[in-house]
Amino acid sequence: MLLAPVEYAKPSTLEDAVRLLSGHDGARALAGGQTLTNVMKARAAAPDVVVDLNGLEELRTIERTGDGGLELGAMVTLSELVRSSVVAETRPILGEVASHIADVQVRNRGTIGGNICSNDPTNHLPPVVSALGATMTIRAAGGERTVGPEEFFLGVYMTAVAPGELLTKITIPAAAGARDGFASVPIGRDGTCIVNAAAAVSDGEARIALGCVAAVPVLLSSAAEEAAVRRAVQDAELDPPSDVHASAEYRRHLAEVVAVRATQEAAA
Ligand SMILES: Cc1cc2nc3c(=O)[nH]c(=O)nc-3n(C[C@H](O)[C@H](O)[C@H](O)COP(=O)(O)OP(=O)(O)OC[C@H]3O[C@@H](n4cnc5c(N)ncnc54)[C@H](O)[C@@H]3O)c2cc1C
Repeated sequence: MLLAPVEYAKPSTLEDAVRLLSGHDGARALAGGQTLTNVMKARAAAPDVVVDLNGLEELRTIERTGDGGLELGAMVTLSELVRSSVVAETRPILGEVASHIADVQVRNRGTIGGNICSNDPTNHLPPVVSALGATMTIRAAGGERTVGPEEFFLGVYMTAVAPGELLTKITIPAAAGARDGFASVPIGRDGTCIVNAAAAVSDGEARIALGCVAAVPVLLSSAAEEAAVRRAVQDAELDPPSDVHASAEYRRHLAEVVAVRATQEAAA
């Protein structure tokens, strides 16, 4: 199906991008377009104006922070996460997980910002940034604010980025001895996840984020031993959806399995 008529703007500064987004009720940011153009073609979204972020070089940077963490511009593509030596030296899990998202065309266009802003519950990166304790910087006409994952992910396709606002960067804390892991049961090798989990393990303690089992990543803390991880998942009393790929009961079972695998990968 063809796109409905829509105005197009490609600002070259962040200020102009925010001005355009906040100045039009029906404006939407366009990052890699891997989700937005599809939902526009399906007429599930019909913005009046798309504000293309691809001219904003300041959103494309990958930098090490002073304390050994990472600062990732929202427009860093999934392929750039895979190729970045800074990411590989700092929190390699980001590149490893990104390398399994869909196919090379999607990875070359899709961005970390678009991936977490769309907050599709089956996406790979919302649980990863949640387990790593990332903070997200949101720019509005009136200034900027920084929020953690619990405040950022609000519901299916909903985040703390309100209309008129932009996600500008994702800050990942230094590993400081923590090791990270990820496990999933996807549909096909690099397909959509049925259930996934990311874990950051430090001093025998795991911070685990489960994906695909609720509208937002489910964050758990647990000792890193298998029995403790299983108990933490059981105690979360998950109420996952049932669909053609898995029943709710099977997803609950898989949640335990991938939480244990992600934790073991991190601790290995
Ligand atoms: C065939 C296919 C298979 C896929 N499979 C997977 C998969 O298995 N796992 C997975 O994780 N992902 C998957 N994806 C999604 C893909 O990885 C992209 O991350 C995702 O499509 C969004 O990224 P994007 O940069 O293309 O964003 P866009 O499509 O441009 O934008 C998505 C949404 O986020 C908003 N947005 C984007 N950037 C910003 C910003 N900086 N500030 C505010 N709002 C913003 C847009 O307005 C829009 O609402 C798949 C995509 C396709 C097409």
